[in-house]
Amino acid sequence: MSNKYDVVIIGSGLGGLCSAYILSKEGYNVCVLEKNRQIGGNLQIFSRSKSIFDTGIHYIGGLAEGQNLNQYFKYFGLMDKLKLKQLDVDGYDHVSFGGDPQVYKHAQGHDNFVETLAQHFPQERENLTRYVRKMREICDFFPLYRVSNEAKDVTRADFLETDTKAYLETVTSNKKLQNILGATNPLYAGEADKTPLYVHALVVNSYIESAWRCVDGSGQIAKHLGDSIKEMGGTVLNYSEAKTFNFLGDEIKEVELTDGRIIEGKKFICNTDLSKALEMVDSNHLRPAYRNRINNLETTISVFIVYLVLKPGTLKYFNHNIYHNFGSDAWDAMNYTEESWPKGYALFSQASSKSPEHADSLIVMGYMRYDEVAQWINTKNITPNHIEKRGDDYEDFKNRKTEKLLDAIEHSFPNIKKNIVSQHTSTPLTYRDYIGSKDGNLYGIAKNYKDPLKTFISPRTKVPNLLLTGQNINFHGVLGVTISSVVTASELVDKTNLVKQIQSAT
Ligand SMILES: Cc1cc2nc3c(=O)[nH]c(=O)nc-3n(C[C@H](O)[C@H](O)[C@H](O)COP(=O)(O)OP(=O)(O)OC[C@H]3O[C@@H](n4cnc5c(N)ncnc54)[C@H](O)[C@@H]3O)c2cc1C
Repeated sequence: MSNKYDVVIIGSGLGGLCSAYILSKEGYNVCVLEKNRQIGGNLQIFSRSKSIFDTGIHYIGGLAEGQNLNQYFKYFGLMDKLKLKQLDVDGYDHVSFGGDPQVYKHAQGHDNFVETLAQHFPQERENLTRYVRKMREICDFFPLYRVSNEAKDVTRADFLETDTKAYLETVTSNKKLQNILGATNPLYAGEADKTPLYVHALVVNSYIESAWRCVDGSGQIAKHLGDSIKEMGGTVLNYSEAKTFNFLGDEIKEVELTDGRIIEGKKFICNTDLSKALEMVDSNHLRPAYRNRINNLETTISVFIVYLVLKPGTLKYFNHNIYHNFGSDAWDAMNYTEESWPKGYALFSQASSKSPEHADSLIVMGYMRYDEVAQWINTKNITPNHIEKRGDDYEDFKNRKTEKLLDAIEHSFPNIKKNIVSQHTSTPLTYRDYIGSKDGNLYGIAKNYKDPLKTFISPRTKVPNLLLTGQNINFHGVLGVTISSVVTASELVDKTNLVKQIQSAT
């Protein structure tokens, strides 16, 4: 096996795999290095009692014929391979609030979205129409969101400097409706007086276009991409954790792995968390100002997740997601205390080919700040070959949190506890250790309308042959990260031609 490649990609998250796919297709000899056994980063799945669980992709937007991700996935050879299930067209997300028995549905299709909410708020039809139009207009500003080669300067657009919650307050004076429109903010870790409107628009519009689950988990996306990369002559190595870059002059010559192996390359692409990427470059090769700027960017909050295996046949499969807030303010869930946690939850069922009629599992998540796990930050429970426990006090902490979250979801599923076969959990430390994300953050850097350009990260670095890709370049989520790979690969191949290939993929 040759240890010298045209391009070495560190990290096999969606961004790393899509970059590798594009570059392999363009004739580059590519090697992807992944520290874990399973490739895919947040696309990883795991199984307990024969139920499959997603870890970081619960639903995907824009996959219907003619829509943006559908076209990208055609280019990546995925569309005819994936097992997908479209969520309920008339209600892919169900939103509810404490003290209000009504369930409000977000529906697919812009007109359908408006009409479905207008059933509860007939006076608000015009405002809702204005809202969905604005969402589309914002998305139109981002050429790659529309799979277009057009050149547009987004940096001066007013929506970069508009706060999402403040904008929703201008859509309608109806407070309940404002909160219904903002209720799916866990999809982007949205915060009041912080999250720019474009973040809300790019995420929400994608699901309004269409919303899908991967049947038997999103790991299939990573598997198919990995197989295609290998078929095109590329190399994908698991159990290969990059430790440091070695330089020859100003350029990186090779990457050294934690087990001592050396992989040489001409170009390098980091798909890891930004802090990890910088850690691998020694101080002579990056100006302190650049390093400080990146390291000081605030990251998004993390989550505590409970994965439930259910007794067979006890819960009918439901083809939507649930977002519940115990209060009336959809933007308050992050501001919890030990006593008030959880202030809300997001709940997903898995689509399973084995059990299409019944939900064999559930995933429930509530926000969790990294400081809650501060006392265990020096423990690590994964090493390449075995899992260690972090200690009994950590198990007690997780059990306490699990009980609280299960009590909370009794709101949506009375008596659910009786139907649980087994329960499993993840904390911010799980994401820190499996994905390598700083403080277990959900979606990378937190964007802020007060200084929007600060979080526009270029795929280029100060090191001439080191590029970046993934959720911090461009945007998080399946669509955002797929586009990030196009942005990154365009540093090495002709962008106009690449986008044309994507546009014409069948
Ligand atoms: C709980 C959760 C739920 C989510 N739900 C959704 C959803 O429903 N829909 C959606 O569209 N998005 C969702 N997202 C966001 C989405 O998962 C991410 O934006 C996206 O997967 C990030 O991809 P990435 O390419 O940036 O890489 P990542 O997934 O972050 O992967 C990085 C990879 O780099 C590897 N790595 C790190 N360090 C090293 C090293 N030193 N050497 C080698 N390899 C290394 C890691 O092991 C990992 O495989 C969710 C995220 C989370 C955390």
